[in-house]
This record gives sequence, structure tokens and C-alpha cells, in this order.
Amino acid sequence: MPSSQLNTDVALGVTIPARNARGRIARLGPVLDSILANHNYPAVVERLLSEALVLTALLGTMLKEPDGQVTLQAQTENGIVDLLVCDYLGGELRGYVKHDSGRLAEAGPNPSLFSLFGKGYLAITFDHPSADERYQGIVPLEGASLAEAAQNYFVQSEQLPSVVRLAVNDTGHVAGGILVQHLPEGEEGRDRIHTRLDNPEWEHVRILSETIKGTELTDPRLSLEGALWRLFHEEEVRVAAAVPLAKGCRCNFDYIRGVIARFAPEDRAEMVDEDGFISVDCEFCSRVFPISLTDIEGGSAA
Ligand SMILES: [Zn+2]
Repeated sequence: MPSSQLNTDVALGVTIPARNARGRIARLGPVLDSILANHNYPAVVERLLSEALVLTALLGTMLKEPDGQVTLQAQTENGIVDLLVCDYLGGELRGYVKHDSGRLAEAGPNPSLFSLFGKGYLAITFDHPSADERYQGIVPLEGASLAEAAQNYFVQSEQLPSVVRLAVNDTGHVAGGILVQHLPEGEEGRDRIHTRLDNPEWEHVRILSETIKGTELTDPRLSLEGALWRLFHEEEVRVAAAVPLAKGCRCNFDYIRGVIARFAPEDRAEMVDEDGFISVDCEFCSRVFPISLTDIEGGSAA
């Protein structure tokens, strides 16, 4: 296997204990191609989704619970992009975008975040089903880029001073990102009243983190450890085990048949087409699952 393959589709955690900082760096390659291949999006939308998938990987791999899920949604009322959804569960990523291709074509090759979304919102949801916990934060989708909007999210919604950088290479086949955060007193559960954005220990880490270049995030010849080392080689850094990333979706015939089977027969009668099928779409996979009504009703009667 060429060494570059070990440097993509992976996330790496880092802590800088002396500065009460933690971070994640992630890079997607073949996984990105395989998610984008489900759709046929224009380049601008592919880049946006690529950045969002990397951001989702950064957030997802921070979860401590193996069954924890992160869902990222960017939504507007009247934007060129109506809806962007990505999620992460157990190392698996998926995502899709709903957009107006006519209006997108008029927006030119390099539209701003505002021209894509207008007045939009970024919602990030953390689910931890086994503990029956759910946390959602919502902030206005503001800033020049998705990375800036995410940075605002952490400051506004979680009071965590953060650096977020997201990059997609020129070919669109590799995307990378970094998230670095300051933890007040190094304790996550502590009252954050003393968090100060101008804390000197954080200032130092912030300045170092902001020197990361887009090419360092996306160059598969540079390992993620190597990229971290370039940033923090003067610090005492602890790097966690790499987390492999994959494309994944929970849709399949059995699952969808099970969902349809739980509807009341009269509701199913309203959904069925003239050939006796209920068609269920998976937006993530751009795939339609035709479920045969006789199949379900035969099955439940048996
Ligand atoms: Zn699917």
C-alpha cells in the first residue's frame, strides 16, 4: 500500500497538557470520493460538502462514547443551499446537500458562504443513545466560510475558544481540517465563567494553530503527525491513536422494511403506488428502496 493511503481517511487527536488545549486533525481522500459519487453535485457544492464532512469527522472523533453520534445541519429559509446534513457514527460518515442548481449557476464559481445560505443556521447535535443524552447547539451561519461559522459555534454555543480550519485541494479529491480548543483549567466539566478569549496560554496555541496551511491539511504525502509536529514542535504534545474513517449509511432493505412495517395498514395504503410498492428514498445515498406491500403484509400475517 502506498504510504499516502495511510495519511487519508483518518483522524488524530492531540492534547497539549501544559496549555490546557486539545485538538483533532483529520483528512479524507477515498472516503470523500465515495460519498460524492453518490450524488452529482456541482463543484461548489462538492467543496462545501467536503468541508462539512471533515468538520463532522473532527467533531465525531472527539466523542468518547462508541455509540455517540454527531449530526451537523446547515439550514436556511431561502438560500441557494436549503439544507446540508452530515453525520458521524462509529467512524462512519455520510452527508448530502439540497440546493437550487439554477440559482447556484448564477452565483459564479466562488460564492461566499452568505451567498450560498443567505440568513442561515448551523446546528450541531450530539447524541449519546445508551445514556439517553442529547445536546444541540444552534448558531447563525455567519462568517466567510464554514470553518469560521464552526469557530463561532464553539465560542457562542459552548464558550470554548477554538480554531477551525478546513481545506479542500484543487482536484477536490482530498479534504482536511483541524480543530484546536482551549479547555479552561483543563477540565471539561468545570464552570466556564473564567474562560477568557485573551488567555495568554491559549493565545500562544491559537497563533500556532492558525499557521496551518491548506496544503498541509490536504497533502497526502504529509502525515497528520507530521502536520501536527510542524505546528507544535516546541510544545509537549500527546497524540492519541489514529481513528480510521469510512463511508457509511444505515439504510438497507431490512431496516426500511422494518420502519414501513410499523406503520398502520391504513397509512401504508396511502403511501403505496399503483404497482404495490412504497418507495423510500435515502437522501444520503441518492438511492430509492421500493418496498413491496405484499412482502410486508404477507410477512406480518405469517
Ligand atoms: Zn443510505
